[in-house]
Amino acid sequence: MRLLLAEDDAMVGAALRKGLQQEGHSVDWVRDGEAADRALRDGAYDLLVLDLGLPRRDGLQVLAELRQRDTPLPVIITTARDQLDDRVRGLDLGADDYLVKPFDLDELSARIRAVARRYAGHARPQLHHQGVSLDPATHEVQREGQSLALSAREFALLQALMERPQAVLSRAQLEERLYGWDEEVASNAVEVYIHHLRKKLGEGYIRNVRGLGYTLGRGS
Ligand code: CA
Repeated sequence: MRLLLAEDDAMVGAALRKGLQQEGHSVDWVRDGEAADRALRDGAYDLLVLDLGLPRRDGLQVLAELRQRDTPLPVIITTARDQLDDRVRGLDLGADDYLVKPFDLDELSARIRAVARRYAGHARPQLHHQGVSLDPATHEVQREGQSLALSAREFALLQALMERPQAVLSRAQLEERLYGWDEEVASNAVEVYIHHLRKKLGEGYIRNVRGLGYTLGRGS
């Protein structure tokens, strides 16, 4: 998923970004509330991890403005242990879940999956499409019951396609899922990963739609 991480603590932020990237997410990290607000207006994110104690603009204010714009973005807030009032206000303002610092990366990852699932309307955690199953929790991909070894980026790309199998995703949309701001995007990266995925999944599994992008759906 493409995540926005709003966290002003340099050590916490760096650790979270690294851990979430290792989970296969693309992470943009902002360190104050104004930058978070700007990123949310400009960027297409799948989920926001929002520290409430942010400089320049409070996390609650960022959240309130996001919800005023009626943006259906999943939000997980993080707070210090003594900020009970803020947690309650955050939930009332439209946060989907919260974590009290310090928390384990495993717990954050599990909550990200749970919240994302609720938004996608999936009761079951696994994605299935034409003989291929993908488990966001275990990162396991199977084809006809056989496990496939995918790199983190191949996995991220396949997950993006499987979440909306009938949609056509452009190269730019797929690049957004693969990379954060701090990473260089090779111009043919998406094509290279698609090529690898086709070798593993079968040539016909991912279709090109000329001039538009890629899809798993069948042609009409
Ligand atoms: Ca803080």
